[in-house]
Amino acid sequence: MSGKWLPFELAWYDTRIFNCSFCGIMMAREYWVDDEFPGEMFCEDKCADVKRRVRAEFAEAKAAGRVEEATHGEEASDV
Ligand SMILES: [Zn+2]
Repeated sequence: MSGKWLPFELAWYDTRIFNCSFCGIMMAREYWVDDEFPGEMFCEDKCADVKRRVRAEFAEAKAAGRVEEATHGEEASDV
């Protein structure tokens, strides 16, 4: 996996709350940005890994004809 940890840089009056885009847990100090999912924030690199695995399994199921169509219409071209 590749990506990086980034700290939240919020002012003391900024009360925004960020949640992991995969598991939904609340994130406090820093978050993981995965190269494969730009624009998404993960609480752990593991969450990005699980998401990657789920996506790969979905692509396999689709290729095997077990899934009618992708929910987002995106092809797993990198598999
Ligand atoms: Zn998470």
